[in-house]
Amino acid sequence: MTYEEALTQAQERGFAETPPTLDVSGLDSAHKLAILAKTAFGVDFDFEEISYEGIEHVSLQDLQYAAELGYAVKLLAIAKLEKKLGIRCSSTAEFVFEDCVVPKDALLDERGRGMKVALTTLNGGRIGIAAQALGIAQACLYEAVKYARTRVQFGQPIGTFQAIQNKIADMAVGIEAARTLVYRAALYKDLGKDYVQAGAMAKLLASEVCSKAANHAVQVFGGYGYCQDYPAERFLRDAKITEIYEGTSEIHRLVIARSLVN
Ligand SMILES: Cc1cc2nc3c(=O)[nH]c(=O)nc-3n(C[C@H](O)[C@H](O)[C@H](O)COP(=O)(O)OP(=O)(O)OC[C@H]3O[C@@H](n4cnc5c(N)ncnc54)[C@H](O)[C@@H]3O)c2cc1C
Repeated sequence: MTYEEALTQAQERGFAETPPTLDVSGLDSAHKLAILAKTAFGVDFDFEEISYEGIEHVSLQDLQYAAELGYAVKLLAIAKLEKKLGIRCSSTAEFVFEDCVVPKDALLDERGRGMKVALTTLNGGRIGIAAQALGIAQACLYEAVKYARTRVQFGQPIGTFQAIQNKIADMAVGIEAARTLVYRAALYKDLGKDYVQAGAMAKLLASEVCSKAANHAVQVFGGYGYCQDYPAERFLRDAKITEIYEGTSEIHRLVIARSLVN
């Protein structure tokens, strides 16, 4: 089947052609996403075999590429877009690969070394999530200080109350400590040094500092902290994921302890 024929078939069934990347951002209205990807040569592709229920978007760029290379293609994955507590500007979807035949030229490493490839990617990604956490925490401090300077209660800005100052001080100290670890991990990576332990430490501290800072920020904003008119409630929702993805805090403690004990 040529690309044009496959495209026509897909469009007849109500599919849209997506841009030539696998970016699911911007598909907020989509309930499900179907991906067409290259499989091994000779695998028949039959649109009739596919269940289309709930699918609103389909990516055809891999189909085109595969057709150009002479590969047949078939549907490999259907994913549900998740509804999340936070980071809602970034769409999250689970991809399920069933009976997926990967041609040799698409292998990322030798066969059987997939876990190593995945873990290596995670190690680098952790520094990125640590930096994300640091950024959210910094925003919490910035907004909390700004609000504490301007919100007047009992005749004075709330920033003059020691209880509010304590929160701001704790946020600032945590952020600077986290920043040091994040930059250190990034430096180790840039220098080609082993950064597994340093990355885990940076991610663990930065994400926990971030959640605490977001919690403090909501508290400094008082009732407004709980409302969407101000950014603090979003910070709190966005902060939590940094303790979960790219390895949970529990797993990072495990990684750090193992690197010391073993
Ligand atoms: C918004 C979002 C985006 C994501 N993006 C991606 C992505 O792009 N790619 C990807 O691969 N994954 C992604 N994930 C998945 C994410 O990495 C996992 O959810 C996370 O690693 C935790 O795994 P889990 O959900 O299976 O929890 P589980 O492993 O079931 O853990 C549940 C709880 O048990 C604890 N626990 C588990 N094992 C141990 C242990 N050995 N010792 C101590 N405690 C333990 C955990 O810390 C956690 O508290 C994403 C998740 C979310 C929510």
